[in-house]
Amino acid sequence: KQQHSFKMENSAVTVAVRVRPFSAREKAEKSLQVIFMNGQETVVQHPDSKQSYSFAYDFSFCSVDADDPTFACQQTVYETLAKPLLLRAFEGFNTCLFAYGQTGSGKSYTMMGFEEEAGVIPRFCQELFSKLASMKNEEVKCHVEMSYFEVYNEKIHDLLVTREEPNQRRMPLRVREHPVHGPYVAELSNIPEWYGWLELGNKQRATAATGMNDKSSRSHSVFTLVMTQTKTELVEGEEHDHSITSRINLIDLAGSERCHSAQTTGDRLREGASINKSLLTLGKVISALSEQALTKKKVFIPYRDSVLTWLLKESLGGNSKTAMIATLSPAGTNVEESLSTLRYAQQAR
Ligand code: ADP
Repeated sequence: KQQHSFKMENSAVTVAVRVRPFSAREKAEKSLQVIFMNGQETVVQHPDSKQSYSFAYDFSFCSVDADDPTFACQQTVYETLAKPLLLRAFEGFNTCLFAYGQTGSGKSYTMMGFEEEAGVIPRFCQELFSKLASMKNEEVKCHVEMSYFEVYNEKIHDLLVTREEPNQRRMPLRVREHPVHGPYVAELSNIPEWYGWLELGNKQRATAATGMNDKSSRSHSVFTLVMTQTKTELVEGEEHDHSITSRINLIDLAGSERCHSAQTTGDRLREGASINKSLLTLGKVISALSEQALTKKKVFIPYRDSVLTWLLKESLGGNSKTAMIATLSPAGTNVEESLSTLRYAQQAR
């Protein structure tokens, strides 16, 4: 039995793993269950080699069977992994939550979900905006703006701009750098509410995908909330405004199978290479941040190597809190992808 063990303390990044229920196809193929959760551990029983691999994370969520007492539902995942980030945001920290995994493993179910099975993003918005509504009369004034964009082939597209809008508005957006606040997307829509807009963004993402052979599995989508808390203080009879800004980034990454599978030619090759680059760079950035937190020594962090990591520079490391959820299929047919997802998640801690 191969055993991996990790230190929980000092880790800069909280890492969770979630295994979804069997899909209809996996059931039809009578695929074996090869992923098992045991407390913080994720155990893989390889169907061919019969070898057992064990990985420890902060959380190992089992969502295979709803009748199982350990079943982790959407609410549990939100409460455990995302809600702490909401609390950190109110304390003034920047936060990031990434969903990583092969296409079809449950990233968008976890991040977005649907209706009663709402995922992290709608639950987060619901709680944040109802918190704001209840703060109306407090001395701290809180203002939130949301944006939603995707990164595809290292280019940025605003998901809150509709197809009906003039061409100009639908062009790829540029990244600029603010001397104090760091890199940002120029001319991105910033909207002071979420309801309806989130739906629009999801619809835009899906529409763009249908014409292009499921583009959504090949792009990263970044949902950002920027919260500004302003407190007015009386200093020697004069009113002074004090404000702190926190950025909350909730990110559904491109399918991780692109990270290593053989690519063909032309557009696919370029696309594969850019997904590859951003996922690899993200992995390097996160592991460099972990190393820095662990050793308390300055480590070079390759933010500039991909658009995604460059844009998230101010939200990763330093004064910020990062979490990752790696999603898995329970099935033996996907065991190699699952192992590579688990290794990626492991290097993040
Ligand atoms: P990805 O975004 O990684 O490509 P999806 O989130 O679209 O994958 O998930 C693929 C399918 O599996 C969807 O039909 C989704 O509803 C379902 N699914 C994923 N995770 C879960 C889960 N934890 N519980 C129930 N259904 C899930």
